[in-house]
Amino acid sequence: MTKTRICVYCGSRLPESTGIISLAKQVGDEIAKRNWGLVYGGGKVGIMGVIADSVLEQNGEVIGIIPTALKKAEVVHTGVTQVIETPDMHSRKAKMEKLSDAFVILPGGFGTLDEFFEILTWKQLGFHSKPIILVNQSEYFDGLTQFLDTAIGLDFIKETNRSLFQITKDSNETLELLDTYF
Ligand code: AMP
Repeated sequence: MTKTRICVYCGSRLPESTGIISLAKQVGDEIAKRNWGLVYGGGKVGIMGVIADSVLEQNGEVIGIIPTALKKAEVVHTGVTQVIETPDMHSRKAKMEKLSDAFVILPGGFGTLDEFFEILTWKQLGFHSKPIILVNQSEYFDGLTQFLDTAIGLDFIKETNRSLFQITKDSNETLELLDTYF
């Protein structure tokens, strides 16, 4: 049986909200406890670093995927199980998708949002059918989900495509949902 791997997209910055930091720690902890692997952007900084460290503390598997050009800017995490270097952003995202069985989106910035929408649009186009979970910890994504309702209301997004991703509110709900899949 192949190992289940969860891709986590999240911020390369560290917010002051302790709720979000503990969310990243808990999700990492629970991934490792289930003997799943973590696939992520490979950095040592921000929420990305927090979740990687949390999985590593439990002796879990962490695969970091980072473009060569970002190794410095995002401070590549050298303590992970495996670092996969890619020539560019596109191959990074493709590799992250290929290695993972589900996608979890924690709070983050432009990069995280880009990754969320890319994996969502790939699903909309039928390129994969893996679970996508948006974790709305501390109501961080409220504005985004409201906007998506506007887009659905105007029929820019098909109503039925709303079910291409699920929203959870914290680590417990997220892991409960993942447990139903794996
Ligand atoms: P951020 O959410 O902006 O802190 O970025 C989180 C991660 O998303 C970082 O590892 C970025 O390299 C990555 N990322 C993915 N796609 C993009 C993109 N198009 N622009 C910026 N960052 C991106």
